[in-house]
Amino acid sequence: MRSLTFGVVMSVGVLAVMALPFHFREGVYLDTRYTFLALSGFFAGPWAAVLPLLTAIARRIAIGGTGLSIALPHIVAATTFGLVGHKFARNHIPSFKMLIVLACAVAASGTLGFYWALPPQIWWQVTTGTVLPFAAILFGATLLSAGALTQELHRHTATIENRIYRAIIEALPDCLNAKDVAGRFIVANPATAKLMGAKTSADLQGKTDADFYPAETAETFRRAEIEMMAKGEPIRIRQNFIRNDGQETWLSTLKAPLRDEFGNLIGLITHNKEVTEQRHLELALTETRARLESAISSMADGLAMFDSEGRLVYQNEKHGDLFPLTADLRKPGIHLRDIVKASLERGEIPMTGECVDKLADQTVHALLSPGDRTFPLTNGRWVETRTRLAGNGSTTIVFSDITENRQREQELCKLNARLAALADTDGLTGVANRRAFDRAIEELTKGANRQARDVGLLMIDVDHFKAFNDTYGHPAGDQCLRRVAETIASLIGTSSGAMLARYGGEEFAVILPGMSATETIEVAQWICRALRDLAIDHVGSDKGVVTASVGATTWLETSTRDVGQFLRRADQALYEAKSAGRSCVRGLNRPRAA
Ligand code: GH3
Ligand code: MG
Ligand code: MG
Repeated sequence: MRSLTFGVVMSVGVLAVMALPFHFREGVYLDTRYTFLALSGFFAGPWAAVLPLLTAIARRIAIGGTGLSIALPHIVAATTFGLVGHKFARNHIPSFKMLIVLACAVAASGTLGFYWALPPQIWWQVTTGTVLPFAAILFGATLLSAGALTQELHRHTATIENRIYRAIIEALPDCLNAKDVAGRFIVANPATAKLMGAKTSADLQGKTDADFYPAETAETFRRAEIEMMAKGEPIRIRQNFIRNDGQETWLSTLKAPLRDEFGNLIGLITHNKEVTEQRHLELALTETRARLESAISSMADGLAMFDSEGRLVYQNEKHGDLFPLTADLRKPGIHLRDIVKASLERGEIPMTGECVDKLADQTVHALLSPGDRTFPLTNGRWVETRTRLAGNGSTTIVFSDITENRQREQELCKLNARLAALADTDGLTGVANRRAFDRAIEELTKGANRQARDVGLLMIDVDHFKAFNDTYGHPAGDQCLRRVAETIASLIGTSSGAMLARYGGEEFAVILPGMSATETIEVAQWICRALRDLAIDHVGSDKGVVTASVGATTWLETSTRDVGQFLRRADQALYEAKSAGRSCVRGLNRPRAA
């Protein structure tokens, strides 16, 4: 629509100039229609060129006359040149050089036809009399008109650009303003007015920071401006001040010199971005980081972080303390393998193989894999490592000195073993107690089952012991029981798994794994004899000395395995020995006199 409108205006121009032609000489009337024809196409393209072209052709045909055959090609040529120029300009504002070329083309389009139509004899006369003056008129008219239109285009573009820039600056949430060298505002955007506490940006004009801020703040701001202007280069600074509403505000500020077209300093441009929130976040972050670092450094454990390639990126103090021989190496940037290798070479970690490199590789692999591990140091201390992987491929390892824990654990183990032993020992005689006996006989018979061998069992009961106590007193009775136990123990020994237990009161039991019935009876007789041979006085006994009766039984390899029955048979044998007059041995299968 705009092109067509432009075409209409230019058509009117064409008609106007064709109505008022120049009278060159007798019968020669010329006009500047070519300028209009070329400019319409040149500035607004084909749609604008059509109407002037048709107007010119129609008008020229209507005038008629002899020059029609020259005029029509001239009209078409002028329009064509304009359109060719338009194509070359490619929607850009044309340069002055292009305007000169266009003016030349228009001058040529309006004059060259003369040489085609007129005989060469009069070419010189036509050139000086008509062509040159007319070409000069066309050239001048085209250049001036095109120049004016180009100027208008520049102005139009500048207006649009100006509007865009203004819109951007007005909408900018950051403060943007220009001041003169004395620090007075020339222009400012609404964000500046808001920050300064002014109603509109127009209120800022001619004022300085001192009109809005306390003298000290304004002075600080001004000092930065003077410094920048003295340097003549843009500066970026952080500024903080207390706003009129009492709020502390942080600004990230860019100050740049403002110069006129000759490069003279005429003021400065300021761009402020409020970064108060960012500043608060930074402060919070710094505080959090400090807290975290203090927490990590006061940790009782060593902490080291490695990047995805295994390089140390962070460690706390305790980490270095745990490994004094390689503390000098444990600095950010070093690879874990170098640390481990040095630890092995310097004897901090004990070597468990020949090859340092291989061991270092294995250790690094283990340390960088998630999980918990425990390993000893050469200095006798024990370290536990807990490896955890982070999402970004880095690894955190916590090193804990567990030496004390380990020692306590070992002591506890020993204590437990001692307690267990005490729980199985008879307090008076020091031999195994009934509890241990019950367990042992269970286990031994099971073992006998498994190993398919005989097990002998003796039940030994001191004769007339009540009378002994009555005669010699309880402590003497205890002493007597200790000697009986010692004697039996020394006889059976501990090899071959034999076991003596205090079965209860003055009764003892002996388990003889792997012994046949005959061997069991033999051992029983040794014991019976040995006790009698102790010759401990016992006036309350018809034997005159302390004696014991022994019941023996054997759990043959082939017999049915039943612990209850086994014990009952031994008891039965003992009962038989008692009945047979005491101080003798009775076997359940082959009773034999002592
Ligand atoms: P028998 O020949 O039939 O076995 O007669 P006995 O007197 O030995 O048997 P009895 O079962 O009547 O008595 C056992 C005695 O053993 C009774 C008890 O005072 C004594 N006795 C049991 N345990 C201990 C002990 O730990 N120390 C002392 N001094 N005597 C004990
Ligand atoms: Mg008894
Ligand atoms: Mg007895």
